[in-house]
Amino acid sequence: MQQSHIKSEIRNWTRLELRQWLEKQSEQDSKIQPYRADQIFYWLYRRKVKDFSEMANIGKPTRNLLEKHFRIGTLKRDQVQRSRDGSLKYRLMLEDDKAVETVLMPHADHHTVCISSQVGCGMGCDFCMTGKMGLIRNLEVSEIVNQVLEAWQDLPEGANLRNIVFMGMGEPFHNYQNVMRALEIFTDVHGFNYSHRRITVSTSGLIPKIRRFGKEQIKANLAVSLNGVNDSVRSALMPVNKAYNLEKLVQACREYPLESRKRITFEYILIRNLTDSLEDAKGLIRLLHGVKFKVNLIPFNETPGGPYQRPEWPSIDAFQQYLLDRGVLATLRISKGQDIAGACGQLVVQETVPA
Ligand code: SAH
Ligand code: SF4
Repeated sequence: MQQSHIKSEIRNWTRLELRQWLEKQSEQDSKIQPYRADQIFYWLYRRKVKDFSEMANIGKPTRNLLEKHFRIGTLKRDQVQRSRDGSLKYRLMLEDDKAVETVLMPHADHHTVCISSQVGCGMGCDFCMTGKMGLIRNLEVSEIVNQVLEAWQDLPEGANLRNIVFMGMGEPFHNYQNVMRALEIFTDVHGFNYSHRRITVSTSGLIPKIRRFGKEQIKANLAVSLNGVNDSVRSALMPVNKAYNLEKLVQACREYPLESRKRITFEYILIRNLTDSLEDAKGLIRLLHGVKFKVNLIPFNETPGGPYQRPEWPSIDAFQQYLLDRGVLATLRISKGQDIAGACGQLVVQETVPA
């Protein structure tokens, strides 16, 4: 047990880092070949092996070396809940007995996995259960990547895990470095080999990080949680708006470098009598003038004892229709997994009590 803590978790390493490390080792032992890093990635992320001994085409000397220095950790399933709509919510235990939640959601012809980037979240949004936990800690790269591997195991035969979305617990841009490294592994041709078009990172609006993200070589879709179209409503809902107000946020989005056919997604929660009027819909269009965007409307998922309510369906439909009629791409996110509290903003992990 002690030993395993000394070894490095191999899924914290990018392929390039692994290759460089193998290069160093090969200076002492010519039997070590740095190009093996490609094959190691194949075994880790395509074949999803749990033990170095399964890496059949890696020679003994390299395998022994890997075994000496690394380990292949997994997350422990503490609880898996199946929702009536078929989504699965996992509560996954980390080594320090903290837990995160991951949701696997089926759609007509594909699956999406919603992953967490932190335990809890420090952004303190008033409507969000994860926000109520506060920030407990950032996730390691391996802890991010292993959520996808865990959900993968439950895909029906022949099904395809098409999208990875960072919309679980946490503010991904508060754990920027590790999220970027996870993206590197997800998009690596020798690793998961995901197209950047299939990955979305959702932020509450940390402007310096939005700018930095736009300059990264590894692209992923950007989603921004808008949730209010004027500063007073947005600041009441999302404290981040006090530091980065709407004008600055929208300006950063106007300047965000988008590849062809890409748009920024604005998530917009519909809360009864607060964000759901047609005046708000009008304000949204005015506010986002000059941004290439689409809107993802999320009818508020009520949380027990909270002050906010979901609007009635006619107002939800009217809001969406108002946008569509004016040429705005607006989809409605019917949250999956509501009956198991796996929907947006309902991810919360109670403090764990040692068994
Ligand atoms: N922290 C990131 C990503 C995770 S939250 C962010 O805020 O963007 C994912 C989405 O769920 C966000 O758009 C957030 O606004 C929304 N959300 C949070 N709580 C919700 C709730 N109770 N009902 C509906 N949507 C909620
Ligand atoms: Fe954090 Fe996102 Fe919840 Fe806000 S909505 S508290 S940023 S997880």
